[in-house]
Amino acid sequence: MHCPFCGAHDTKVTDSRLVAEGDQVRRRRQCAGCGERFTTYETAELVMPRVVKSDGSRESFDEQKMRAGMALALEKRPVSVESFEAAVERIRQRLRARGDREVEARAVGEEVMEALQRLDHVAYIRFASVYRRFQDLDEFRAEIDRLSQEPTVSSEDNGDPR
Ligand SMILES: [Zn+2]
Repeated sequence: MHCPFCGAHDTKVTDSRLVAEGDQVRRRRQCAGCGERFTTYETAELVMPRVVKSDGSRESFDEQKMRAGMALALEKRPVSVESFEAAVERIRQRLRARGDREVEARAVGEEVMEALQRLDHVAYIRFASVYRRFQDLDEFRAEIDRLSQEPTVSSEDNGDPR
């Protein structure tokens, strides 16, 4: 690959090793032109199933959207970045492990709920209390946005009439 410093075409690999429990290859490279060293990481690009929404429409799996929903539930909670990342990775693995090319949006939400339950009980309650009434993360996001714009939100306001 090209050197990110000088753009030279010729860089050589000086070291190569497995990292992240074998899921990644880390390569040290050195530019033959300017001599700068840099590191590249190689991971398999694994295809995530497509998401079937409640209205039957399909969309590609949107990890950013999932992360945003989880982050909202975890706001100000004592959960480390490492734990958060591990939870995201676990959800990805579990969705892929189904071996289906499509997965219902609802199933993605259930995975998120299960992950939050392991991470932090308050975050789980926050997410579940809102999410259970909705079909997918889009609606969840909209509801969270709406709630966060109200100056005071008491638990009574969130009562589910069912
Ligand atoms: Zn260079």
